Formats: sequence, structure tokens, C-alpha cells
Amino acid sequence: MNGDPRGAAPAAAVTRPGDQAAGRAAATVRRDIQALAAYSVGHAEGGIKLDAMENPYDLPEAVRDAVAAAVRATALNRYPADPAALRQAVRQAFDVPAGAGLLFGNGSDELIHLIVQACCEPGDVVLAPAPSFVIFEMAARYNHARYVGVPLTAGLELDLPAMLAAIAAHRPKVIFLALPNNPTGGLWPAADVQAILDAAPGLVVIDEAYQPFADHTWMPRAATLPNAVVLRTVSKLGLAGLRFGYLAGPPAWIGEFDKVRPPYNVDVLTEAVLLAVLRHKDVLDGQAARLRADREPLARALAELPGATVHPSAANFLLVRFSGELGADAVHQALKSRKIWVRAFGDGDALLKNCLRISIGTPAENAALLAALREILGRAPARASAA
Ligand SMILES: *Cc1c(COP(=O)(O)O)cnc(C)c1O
Repeated sequence: MNGDPRGAAPAAAVTRPGDQAAGRAAATVRRDIQALAAYSVGHAEGGIKLDAMENPYDLPEAVRDAVAAAVRATALNRYPADPAALRQAVRQAFDVPAGAGLLFGNGSDELIHLIVQACCEPGDVVLAPAPSFVIFEMAARYNHARYVGVPLTAGLELDLPAMLAAIAAHRPKVIFLALPNNPTGGLWPAADVQAILDAAPGLVVIDEAYQPFADHTWMPRAATLPNAVVLRTVSKLGLAGLRFGYLAGPPAWIGEFDKVRPPYNVDVLTEAVLLAVLRHKDVLDGQAARLRADREPLARALAELPGATVHPSAANFLLVRFSGELGADAVHQALKSRKIWVRAFGDGDALLKNCLRISIGTPAENAALLAALREILGRAPARASAA
């Protein structure tokens, strides 16, 4: 744009540049993208943040020092090299079987997009139970695939007959199963997952983002299941800010996905910091175990609130339905005014009506949440077991 400014048409001078850009964007950007709302990331400053399934605990000083030293030693002027050392460390830290291929992503979000991109021609079907992780549907849309959500039962469990019928009807290229599921917290029975693996004509992605809080993993079979890959992230384990996810599966699948991966998708700082932190993985494991131990007492205390029903969870969050006098929206607003941030679903999925999703926090945070809810729901402070 080095033309003579005096050459600009007079009409352009009276139209604001922003309006012009809006017109051009409206005429150029895909219509389906224009119709979407951007994924909104909450900002919850100075309160109690229980809306994003983050680990609430800090890293100890010694680990932070190790991180600082690793960052200091990193050459920022060089492009990331093949992360062989990190592959080795991830294999060891997370028990990735020897025969499995391994692919890294800028968060597991990116890997979800890459899988759909690699597998789906325009119009091909991506299928998942619904409600589940919203990125599954977004990845399908962005890549011109057709998303089919198979509703969970009214009790928010997997509807296996409906899944099998939908698989037969739609012949999906990719099926996403979050195990445990977000936002419900449930862990589908292994026999049901196996039935889906047997019926799937394409790939099944087993998303184990919440595996650190569950008893089951498909990772030992990541090399031998012919039509499945196992997706993991370090986000829920305590490193959400780092943006690192990994995909394990038969090399025949992983090699194809590697072709659509942006070459430098995992940056040198992520690599260096993760290597440093994984040397202290016992710290993360300890924090996860603590969150997990606090889950059932918190669930019991929440269930004692008037009108509240708590869905069983194998993750680091609880889905709570408020069917008393105050609905979830009112409870959400009241918590917000006390600077306690949880996740509401508005008019999204009907199955989530009046539900709030609440991350497990520190004991002090959990106690503050319970005290606030007791006040909001108008009940004298009861001596609940977890308070
Ligand atoms: C949070 C979440 C992820 C995203 O993880 P990132 O690695 O932070 O992108 C993936 N899958 C499910 C089911 C999640 O809830």
C-alpha cells in the first residue's frame, strides 16, 4: 500500500475505514464462519476461578527455578528442532507404549483440528456424543465436515444404541469420545467404547484430557487398536498455560496426521519448560491426587444444597443441576457477584438446562464456594462434611 494518498477516491474519504473493512470482510469470509461466535475465553481476575478445569496449585519454588534455568538456556533465535528429547520424556512420563507413534500439538485442541483436517473431505461426518467438548464440533465446521451430535440419555449417560444407530446411518469418518466426558464428567463403560470401536467405519479418537483424575486409560492399547488413537493434554494436569497436547496411536495414523501439522507448532519455550517440569512430574501427580481426593467430599456437600443434584464425575470438575427456586442462571449471577467464577451453559444444550460446571479448587476455594452457595440458596450454614 505505497500509492499516493491523494489518489484515494473522494467517496472513500467519507466512509470510515472500519466500515469499509466490515464490508470487505462480509463479502469475503465464509458465511458459516461469519455466523459463528468466537470461542470466548473468560477472564476471572481477583476471584476464585472454578470455570476452566485448571489445577489451582502453584508449582513449588524448586521447580520454578528449574523452569527459569531452562528458559534462560533456550536459544530463541532458532526454529524448534525435532523434539526427540521431549518425545522420550513424554513416552516415559505418560506410559506411551513402545509401538505407538507420537504427535505433539499446541494444546490438544490443535490435534483435534489436525485429525479432522486430515480425515475429512467436505461433507464427511464427524460424530460425537452430545453434549461433549465443543471443539469437536468447531473442528468439524471449520474443515467443511458435517457434525453429528448423538444426544446423551436424560441421565447424561452414553446412549449406546443411539450411538450405534447413528454410526450405521452416518458412517462417520471420525468419532470423538471424551473419556471422561466434558462437561458431564462421566466415564463411559469400556464395553460401550469397545462396541463403538467395533462399529466405527473410520477413526475413533479417545480424548483422555481428564485421565489424571480417572481410574481407566486406553493408553496401553494405543499401539494395537487398528482404528483408534489416544489424545492427551497436560492442561488439566497443571500446565494449561503451556499449550501442549499429545496424540498416541499406530504409526500408520500418526504419520498421516503429521503431514498436516504446522512444522513448528510446539515452540522452543514449551519444549524446554515441559522437559524441566516433567523431571518433577511427581509434583503434578500429587496435585492431581489431591484434587481427586477432594472431589467426592465436595460432591456430597454440594448435593446437600436445596434443589441441587450432582452428576457423578471421574474428572476434576462437577456438573451440578439446580432445580430449586433459583435456576442455574440466577445462581451463576450470584456467584459472579461474589467473584466466584463457574461455567454456565445458557440456552445451549437442553440436556444441560439449569446446570453449572464447577472445577475442583483448593480446600479453601471449595469451602468458599460452598459458603456462597448456602447463602445464595437461602439455607442456614449447615455443617456439611466437606466444609
Ligand atoms: C480441556 C479439554 C481439552 C483441551 O485441552 P488443551 O490441551 O488445553 O487444548 C481437550 N479435550 C477435552 C475433552 C477437554 O475438556
